[in-house]
Amino acid sequence: MNKKSLGLYIHIPFCQAKCAYCDFYSMSGSGDEDMARYVDALLLQMEDYAGAVKPYTVDSVFIGGGTPTVLPVKCMTTLIDGIYRCFDVSKRAEFTLEANPATVSLHSLQKYRRAGVNRLSMGLQSANEDELRALSRIHTKANFEASYMAARKAGFENINVDIMYGIPLQTAESFNRTLDYLTALEPEHISMYGLRIEEGTPFALSRDTLILPDEDTEADMYFDAIRYLNAKGFRHYEISNFARPGCECRHNLKYWNCDEYLGLGCAAHSYFGGMRFSFKRNMGMYIDAMEADITGGGMLTDDGTSIDYEQFRAAALVDELYEVAPSERVGEYIMLRLRLTDGISSEQFRQRFGLNFDALYGRKLKLYIDNGFMTFDGDSYAFTPKGMYVSNYILSNILDFDENSHIIGTIADGSEQ
Ligand code: SF4
Repeated sequence: MNKKSLGLYIHIPFCQAKCAYCDFYSMSGSGDEDMARYVDALLLQMEDYAGAVKPYTVDSVFIGGGTPTVLPVKCMTTLIDGIYRCFDVSKRAEFTLEANPATVSLHSLQKYRRAGVNRLSMGLQSANEDELRALSRIHTKANFEASYMAARKAGFENINVDIMYGIPLQTAESFNRTLDYLTALEPEHISMYGLRIEEGTPFALSRDTLILPDEDTEADMYFDAIRYLNAKGFRHYEISNFARPGCECRHNLKYWNCDEYLGLGCAAHSYFGGMRFSFKRNMGMYIDAMEADITGGGMLTDDGTSIDYEQFRAAALVDELYEVAPSERVGEYIMLRLRLTDGISSEQFRQRFGLNFDALYGRKLKLYIDNGFMTFDGDSYAFTPKGMYVSNYILSNILDFDENSHIIGTIADGSEQ
């Protein structure tokens, strides 16, 4: 029997220090003991899902966060061993680990490589020291370069580097220098995100005092970078992502293709068995729920009432849970697929949903095609770079949804799954 394929995401909610712009679910200041307890809880959750994932082969694994590489190396290798034990991981699976350059060494990188990790995703963000300080990153450009070289030495042949544009103190020239610097190192993949000021972050509190590039400069950075990276041999394949041919991130492509993935750990999101669900952004509740012994089937509380432990665990863990209705599947597919530069093929759409994409959306999209925001080659509709830059706005017009939909905010970015 042919098994279905599955992406696996594991969330690690620890960082050495919080960056001023970040609203991902992670915390700083945790000790080794907390981290070991969290990994034990993850192992329990993986065992819980081992039965449900039997019909699947895992062909991509992504350990993200947070900063997974703040875990003690032994904890990380225990976690990786657990993944191989609980899931049928394909021999050719893409196995990515997110790494902060200040938290790895040649020794740890060699251990990760030997344990089965074959792709690293490193955050550089900027090659300018003032900009790194403004973001409150914990590493310098020299830290990054040393870690990048160590990763190559440890045998990593597939490395992604994250950079940002629109950040405090950045100019078009300093951004170009970051691009020059990074492309000279020849990574296989580059993710390039525009800074968003998220509520609840230190940047949101000091919004009025931040010295940011103006909107036109920021837009030029995006368009110039696309041209520059294309010329350097990187294919712009998704709004924020560029890859050497064949090095596109297979795990993140699952999000944008609406393929199945399972996200474990607090704050993780899943699309699995026709359901979308996420776990609460609360590490303490997550650990308590996973540590609770549910084998007895029920327990008595202090006041003598009976609680079903399975229900207790589900209530403590689950944040959102809903079945994706067929009509919603179409909307999600359009929203996520159009992030890819390949766009939506009318023929593939017909095969997947039995619907005529041209008849449903062709008239609405004509306006954007006529104005240079989209292209249509007779089968596929796709955003141009100009369209990608304002894609959330265009999608909200096409699909009639709130521009700040959670799907766009979390799943679509391929972050914090
Ligand atoms: S950006 Fe990355 S390293 Fe910085 S706080 Fe967020 S998750 Fe941690």
